[in-house]
Amino acid sequence: GLVLGIESSCDDTGVAVVTASGRVLGESLATQAEVHAAWGGVVPKLAQEAHEAAIDGCVEAALAAAGVAPGQLSAVAVTIGPGLSLCLRVGVLKARQLAAQHQLPLIPVHHMEAHALVARLGATRFAAVAAAQEAAAGPAAVAAAAAAAAEPAAAAAAAEPAEAEPAAAAAGPHVEFPFLCLLISGGHNLLLLVEGIGQYVQLGTTLDDALGEAYDKVARLLGLDLMPSGGAALEAFAARGDPKGVPLTVPMRGRPSCDFSYAGLKTAVRLQIEERCPEPTADNEQVRADIAASFQRVAVQHLEERCRRAVQWARESHPEVRHLVVAGGVAANRYVGSRLTAVAAEGGLELVCPPPRLCTDNGVMVAWAGVERMQLGLMEPPPATSAPAEGEWVDLRPRWPLTDRKDPRSHSAP
Ligand code: ATP
Ligand code: FE
Repeated sequence: GLVLGIESSCDDTGVAVVTASGRVLGESLATQAEVHAAWGGVVPKLAQEAHEAAIDGCVEAALAAAGVAPGQLSAVAVTIGPGLSLCLRVGVLKARQLAAQHQLPLIPVHHMEAHALVARLGATRFAAVAAAQEAAAGPAAVAAAAAAAAEPAAAAAAAEPAEAEPAAAAAGPHVEFPFLCLLISGGHNLLLLVEGIGQYVQLGTTLDDALGEAYDKVARLLGLDLMPSGGAALEAFAARGDPKGVPLTVPMRGRPSCDFSYAGLKTAVRLQIEERCPEPTADNEQVRADIAASFQRVAVQHLEERCRRAVQWARESHPEVRHLVVAGGVAANRYVGSRLTAVAAEGGLELVCPPPRLCTDNGVMVAWAGVERMQLGLMEPPPATSAPAEGEWVDLRPRWPLTDRKDPRSHSAP
């Protein structure tokens, strides 16, 4: 079985073809980082236009890199939410068109489930994706090529055709259910117990902002170049600063829950910037780097404290849990990865963090979530018509909680 996955929920158009055993045969990604960096945030209408300009080319590039014709696919998976409805619509309409034309089942995917499940691709797959990314001339070149939108960047993770997969490489995913999962991205901060596909228990969430959002805001206040993302820019800039250079307090200390809060920290950082370096100049670069490093240290310390508690809970009630999965865009951050590796190890767990390419939005995670759902028969029959009839409902879920099951130990949950 081969699944083609489409992601268009925010500012990346991603498409990939993945085998049932998780091999990435071909993928393509067009990012709009430049468009949105210029505007200081994602403008939905501009994002929609960029998706529309990129989607056909991305699908073609992924299929070409995979050496697969649409008729050879087993199903088409697509993110239907959560995200910006104007953007989701572009991917969903394309998926529907492909599925109708080639009479393939459709697999609706939750964006955060895709972020979480990609961890189950396994270490061998991770290594292949990381190698393919390097071979594709590095992330800067990929982003630059993709910014042209007409020519999405494509990378084949393997040269052999789909059928030629050696049995040894078909080793199944090594992260088994149940596992503990921290999802940190532009719009979410979730601590979950993942019991199975579609089975999530929420241990904690953010009471205000997500960490990725905080990284983006702080990067902007510090006057950084927001490419390829505010978070990545801030991580690089923070490396030059003193992580104890500026006094900041860790949020929600002593509150016995696994919930997060980043609004207060963001405000404290804004006040520091207004006081010490209201305008970014070469002269105040060191001060700004100190603020960046201090923000990152305290923000990540908050993550560590919440994860430490979640690991303890998991050990008490689910001793079979072996892994702490950290995914979503902020998981691309090396400092985050190294700090949380230690937290997992303290609790006897192994940290699994996908390579950066699979942490930020991409088509592979959607295709893989599609594979996992397909194997359980969680699919919709092929649509009869390629375009929805006038007035026909297209299933998009811009606001879509991953679960309504909450762990009772999470006291500050509303
Ligand atoms: P969501 O997944 O919640 O719907 P999204 O899809 O917009 O949101 P992702 O693409 O998953 O978000 O992640 C993007 C976020 O990750 C941005 O906020 C970005 O700044 C952040 N990010 C990316 N790389 C890094 C990094 N190295 N360090 C910190 N943050 C990073
Ligand atoms: Fe995302």
